[in-house]
Amino acid sequence: MRQNLLAAAAASPAAEICGLLLGRVAGGAACVEELRPAANVAADPARSFEIDPATLLAAHRQARGAGRQVLGHWHSHPNGRCAPSARDAARAVDNGQIWLIIAGGRLGAWVARRTGAGPAEFLPVAMDAD
Ligand SMILES: [Zn+2]
Repeated sequence: MRQNLLAAAAASPAAEICGLLLGRVAGGAACVEELRPAANVAADPARSFEIDPATLLAAHRQARGAGRQVLGHWHSHPNGRCAPSARDAARAVDNGQIWLIIAGGRLGAWVARRTGAGPAEFLPVAMDAD
């Protein structure tokens, strides 16, 4: 899983790639069972991402039918910074979704939390990916 994401990000040096993490929550841990790539439909894909809404809708529908859920999403940072950007913080919502970021040959995972009207803060999530 990890290698697939790193390779996909490396193959797209000029635009952020993105997709969805599907799986189950068991014993307090989110277990990702499927990586579903999505088109990045952002107006400025070099610096931001927006998951194709049709892919998102289909993923939610299929996950429900299969007893799974959309656990979060991934996107890449072509600039190599493996951390949520100011842009990410401005749009993140407090919904428990995992933010997986691929940059500079590394993966990082966070969950966004909003405490007020300002940008979200990101809490690191431990990952056991192979
Ligand atoms: Zn980002």
